[in-house]
Amino acid sequence: MPYLSNPSQPSHALMNTVVRPETVFVRGRGAWLYDEIGLAYFDWVQGWAVNCLGHSPDVVAAALARQATTLLNPSPAYLNRPAMDLAARLVAASVFDEVFFASSGAEANEGAIKLARKWGRLHRGGAHEIITFANGYHGRTIATMSATGKPGWDIYYPPQVPGFPKAVFNDLASVEALIGPATVAIMLEPVQGEGGVRPASKAFMRGLRALCDLHGLLLILDEVQTGCGRTGPLFAYQHYGVEPDIMTLGKGLGAGVPISALLAKHHACVFQPGDQGGTFCANPLVCAVGEAVMQVLDTPEFLANVAARGEQLAQGLRTLSRNFGLGEVRGSGLLWALEVGADDAVEMVETARRHGFLLNAPRSHCLRFMPALNSSAVEIDHGLRLLEKVLAAHRFVTRNVAEVA
Ligand SMILES: *Cc1c(COP(=O)(O)O)cnc(C)c1O
Repeated sequence: MPYLSNPSQPSHALMNTVVRPETVFVRGRGAWLYDEIGLAYFDWVQGWAVNCLGHSPDVVAAALARQATTLLNPSPAYLNRPAMDLAARLVAASVFDEVFFASSGAEANEGAIKLARKWGRLHRGGAHEIITFANGYHGRTIATMSATGKPGWDIYYPPQVPGFPKAVFNDLASVEALIGPATVAIMLEPVQGEGGVRPASKAFMRGLRALCDLHGLLLILDEVQTGCGRTGPLFAYQHYGVEPDIMTLGKGLGAGVPISALLAKHHACVFQPGDQGGTFCANPLVCAVGEAVMQVLDTPEFLANVAARGEQLAQGLRTLSRNFGLGEVRGSGLLWALEVGADDAVEMVETARRHGFLLNAPRSHCLRFMPALNSSAVEIDHGLRLLEKVLAAHRFVTRNVAEVA
């Protein structure tokens, strides 16, 4: 069978773009992933905060099967019912009026950037600069990498796309200082996810809205990670009592299937035919999944469970932090981070994997927890007990190393 990858060999045919463990996962169900040799892993990465309903949820499988045998791809040049239904549902559930669907978070953000630039051309005399933030994350296309504030990303693939000055997160004066005649928008994550789960303060978010109103700017929230119930409410802007002009969604919207969305209020909806598009945009297969997922997420009971499980997780993390002498616990809903020692987090992720527990370290000094949003109390408890074992094992190893040294 010359065309199958050999399980005993690392894959040489995949480009080497990520440092990955050699484990090959073959099956997932709920909170659990299973590898090729039959080992089970308890998963709090969940496809990078994507699998809001856990692995292989029945509602997604059913929507895929139903739509695949009904209408797969009429082309973006024609209307389809699942796209219309999902757009109507998102509009009804939010403060926005119109929706554009795409396939990835970065692509939705590209759309937001284009929308803001066109709005600036029409209404602000060609203003085009979008103020973004240090340690912010908006994706991996050339423009969204330029909007991203990860250290080092400004020199990754030079030249950068111009027009994304960087302010300091939660520092209103740093934003004000960057506003000029060329400024058209301010774009941020309500919680900096890849930046280590750092929430915008209420005062900061309200201050940004006031600055936008004062200077005639658009407020763009990248809710690719925080949207779809991840932080408790359906959208994170609802924490703040602030309405953005534009919002992007991704990750959880498809619960594992690639779909993203760009949402905007009437006054910002300036695209005309030909301005934006893509082969897979508003594809009925992924829109049918989005609709099935939103039907589950957008109920008071579901969101109440996210809040309750989040409280349970936070309390457990605070106890562990105290008992192990670790640092700050930050987050909301089911997106949390725990500060550990400098450069300890990457090794802890490895230790966790050896214990059959999948975790993520967005920065070298902090662990991030992204369980499925439909986790049960028993499952949150299970994860906390696994984490306790991992922290104890890590402390044992580092203490022995220190004694030998
Ligand atoms: C993941 C993420 C993106 C990028 O989404 P992709 O689907 O990987 O392109 C953009 N913004 C935020 C806040 C994210 O967390």
